[in-house]
Amino acid sequence: MNKLGIFMNFWEKNWDADHAKYIRKAAQIGFDVLEFQAQPLLEMTDEKIRSLKALADDVGIELTYSLGLDRAYDVSSLDENIRKGGVKYLQDIIRKMHIGGGTLLSGVSYAGWGTPDNFAGDKRPYLEQSIKSMREIIKVAEECGVTYCVEAVNRFETCLINTAREALDYASEIDSPNIGVLLDTYHMNIEENSIGDAIRLAGDRLTSFHTGENNRTAPGRGHLDWDEIFGALADIGYSGRIVSEPFVMAGGEVGRDIHVYRDLIADPTEEKIDEEAKYLLNFEKEMIQKYSK
Ligand code: MN
Repeated sequence: MNKLGIFMNFWEKNWDADHAKYIRKAAQIGFDVLEFQAQPLLEMTDEKIRSLKALADDVGIELTYSLGLDRAYDVSSLDENIRKGGVKYLQDIIRKMHIGGGTLLSGVSYAGWGTPDNFAGDKRPYLEQSIKSMREIIKVAEECGVTYCVEAVNRFETCLINTAREALDYASEIDSPNIGVLLDTYHMNIEENSIGDAIRLAGDRLTSFHTGENNRTAPGRGHLDWDEIFGALADIGYSGRIVSEPFVMAGGEVGRDIHVYRDLIADPTEEKIDEEAKYLLNFEKEMIQKYSK
């Protein structure tokens, strides 16, 4: 069975929150993995990071990380000062992850989140800057035992990597055992002609997987074809992590950054989100079971 996870900000409207509370909650509900926004690690003491790791070990939760890179640290910037600052920033995040035993980073982590200012339509120069940066970042990832996943996201969040094909090509350019590819159903729904074909194209190069509906509700609530998705994961023999990333609450930093302008479940109290998390865990387990060979 794949390890199943959930993103902490299903519950929280701000990126930083009481990590310990959600480590306990994820374990109690029955998840194997809890994913956090990585940037708050930079504000934590090493002691605090180690204590969260000890708690996670104690309750049987693996911690993984994701980020939407602040454009002040855009590693695809044509401005060398910004690019170099971004390289150092991401290397620092990887080192902090390592202190807490983290081994997986994903997200828009290869460019600033969004479209570059004054973008004139040719992404190649930005891609070249990003690849140059990643070759430096990946050395630290190798030292720290961190797999740095390139996540293909939709066109409104980056111009650089929108499809599985583009993520695979990018990863090939880096040529490191520590570069990975992550696909996310929410983004694939917008960008791929066929979600199943995109998963099969990635094949054994698929490192990690995010789930979410067409409108970022929990899997099974919207109109994505989960038979196609879990069937394709079974086709490639995918045995890695599946981390669900629903965002259902308007407001706060998360609502602003993810563009959630209405509550996507009625009256989203903590109890209701807990119930929804249990539902989605069960839904994914059933789908995996259905396609297990
Ligand atoms: Mn994702």
